[in-house]
Amino acid sequence: MFAQVAVDIAHSKIDRLFTYTVPDAMQLEPGNHVLVPFGRGNKLAEGFVLMLSTAPADPDIKLKSVFKLLEPYPIFTKEQLSLAYWMRETYRCLLVDALRLMIPAQLRGGRIKEKTQYIVRLAEDADFAAIHASMMNKDGSLKAPRQAEILEMLQKTGAPIAYNEVLKFLPGSSNALNALITKGFIIREEFTIFRTPAGILKQENTTVDLTASQENTIGTICFGMKTERGTFLIHGVTGSGKTEVYMHCINSCIENGQHAIVLVPEISLTPQTMGLFRARFGNKVALLHSRLSAGERFDEWRKIRLGLVQVAVGARSVVFAPFDKLGLIVVDEEHEQSYQSETSPRYHAIEVARKRCLISKATLILGSATPSITSYYRAKTGRYTLLELPERVNLRPMPKFKIVDMREEYLCGNTGIFSNMLLDELDACLKAGKQAILFLNRRGYSTFISCRSCGYVFQCKNCDISMTYHRTENRVKCHYCGLTETVPELCPNCGRKFIKYSGIGTQQVHEQMNYRFPKAAALRMDFDSTRSKDAHEKILSAFARKEAQVLIGTQMVAKGLDFPDVTLVGVIDADKSMYLPDYRSAERTFQLLTQVAGRAGRDEIPGVVVVQTNSPLHPSIRFARTHDYKGFFTYELAQRRAALFPPFSLFIRVLLTGKEESQLYSEALHIGRELEKAALIALGSGNNKDLIYLCASPSPIKKRQGDYRYQVLIKLLRTERTAQVLNAIYDCIDENSKERYFTVEINPNDLF
Ligand code: ADP
Ligand code: ZN
Repeated sequence: MFAQVAVDIAHSKIDRLFTYTVPDAMQLEPGNHVLVPFGRGNKLAEGFVLMLSTAPADPDIKLKSVFKLLEPYPIFTKEQLSLAYWMRETYRCLLVDALRLMIPAQLRGGRIKEKTQYIVRLAEDADFAAIHASMMNKDGSLKAPRQAEILEMLQKTGAPIAYNEVLKFLPGSSNALNALITKGFIIREEFTIFRTPAGILKQENTTVDLTASQENTIGTICFGMKTERGTFLIHGVTGSGKTEVYMHCINSCIENGQHAIVLVPEISLTPQTMGLFRARFGNKVALLHSRLSAGERFDEWRKIRLGLVQVAVGARSVVFAPFDKLGLIVVDEEHEQSYQSETSPRYHAIEVARKRCLISKATLILGSATPSITSYYRAKTGRYTLLELPERVNLRPMPKFKIVDMREEYLCGNTGIFSNMLLDELDACLKAGKQAILFLNRRGYSTFISCRSCGYVFQCKNCDISMTYHRTENRVKCHYCGLTETVPELCPNCGRKFIKYSGIGTQQVHEQMNYRFPKAAALRMDFDSTRSKDAHEKILSAFARKEAQVLIGTQMVAKGLDFPDVTLVGVIDADKSMYLPDYRSAERTFQLLTQVAGRAGRDEIPGVVVVQTNSPLHPSIRFARTHDYKGFFTYELAQRRAALFPPFSLFIRVLLTGKEESQLYSEALHIGRELEKAALIALGSGNNKDLIYLCASPSPIKKRQGDYRYQVLIKLLRTERTAQVLNAIYDCIDENSKERYFTVEINPNDLF
């Protein structure tokens, strides 16, 4: 037998398979993790067996032999191996980089081990009457009272007990226990145990009466799971009960003897959501989130790999969960940016999920109240099946939008953070004993510090970005590199004392809230207040217990939260995301407004959303106000079509970074020209209008952490030639990247 092995070393020179002979005594399968001698010195390296064959590729070459099998089971399924090949082609990454995404990091290098435990049990063939008799002295007293106690305990329990537990119950009994083991009355065995993440919740069967839309949606998907499978897009308004739909489909998948994967944005992977899945699926579910220890992560992964669970819930990377009978993948909040990986391999979890479903003949469900323009376009053009949940459960009304033009507010003399409308609504909400959420997408206190006298702006030394003032620590901070400095007293440029703080952050909203409503308790949830391990959970559960009436926060409070007593949502500044240099800023603003509004009025009292803006007529606001997703989609799609942005094209950015700005700029110009040439050749003559736009320029944040950044932007029309051109672009980058490292991003999340 011969094994084709991918050696676990990330280097483009060894991004291929190496052939080894398999020793006779070794049983190998594709997916096995092995040690092999590698290189001239035959140092042992880890590797992954991808294929086995009975004949070597070249019989004349003297082959080395596999040294050792590491895990007794294949750590990759066959489908995962196919997926890794596909990722290598699609994202132009090394095969081992794709494979590494699919296993716990600590499995490599043997940094994590299975945890074992000793248990003791009574020997099956022991004659207890005889044992007891042998323990008696002639006068009827016990020879070995400790041993008798242990035996009695095991007999009463009627089941094995952990070795350590016996010692805990009967302190000082270790000699007695060991004596019983030596005599053979008690058997000691080693067992593998699983480290289970804290808070094992009970499985409870709560049932709700499904709404008609929920029932239809579930029916269509469950029928689809048995027939043509494919991809379903659920467009369900906030509070329409999408989770309930997912749960039913997952149940049906499990009943068919198959496995299901659920992707949730990391930010929504709260104990609240995880509790829902645990309650419904009990020990059938593995929960993977960023707060697991390495040991827990390894054990959850192993439960999936060994088929001990049927459902896996987690953030982006759970799409690689090693199930071998995959029937269903659910992607909740499918429009979320966090599904796109920002480090190489730059995969998009929905793309990977689609490919996995194709390979495994599984069904894909995408769900959102605000589907991405691209997904909805695919549904409209027949590639996905569109399913709609147009109403909230129990026919609760959608929240009512009240738009405040902050320019008028200013003209009328209100220069504060809160409009009169928001103050009135807050007052009414608090008086009614309800709760409110205030949303602002900027943390800190003041986001802009300048000199009134000379106009100097305080920027980070390392980054091309203004510093933010944090009042809680009384320091200024850079939100890109984390640099902090003392608060300036004099302008470093003109030396005068006219420092001005402007721009509002969440800390200032909190302060104003306390000042305006001293009797109400407010909590702040942002990056700064959730740094410690359980801070997130503590804030949310305090709010759930109504220890506070107001929750102030960044996007952390905008999504997914389900608090029945929240009747008011205030958007402090809707314009923050509207004018970013990004073709998706209108889409993002619409999504954010719809999602944050969706937190209000989820129970009996209808919700109100107050949106403060300087652009009340902006389409994102106009369509969000009337809950008109389809209207927004039609408007935005027309914009995209006119400007040839995705979904009509691929938006490609090649980013160059370096210390020397002028050199970087000339290199950017050079690579831009080379890319254009290569792409045009690949397009073929007569098709040059497919390549829309091309330029080399500084990126919007020109300097980050001390490095200058220049970029080349390309719009490439989607045609049957797209893949070919993309390959030519990658080839051109590979040829030119000997001295400098370029990053190629396709439809990147942001352009900073
Ligand atoms: P979405 O994700 O669509 O915003 P959720 O799935 O969070 O909505 O559901 C909103 C609330 O409605 C949840 O508290 C859920 O338990 C409840 N719910 C879901 N379906 C029903 C139903 N058929 N009847 C009553 N309540 C339901
Ligand atoms: Zn910085």
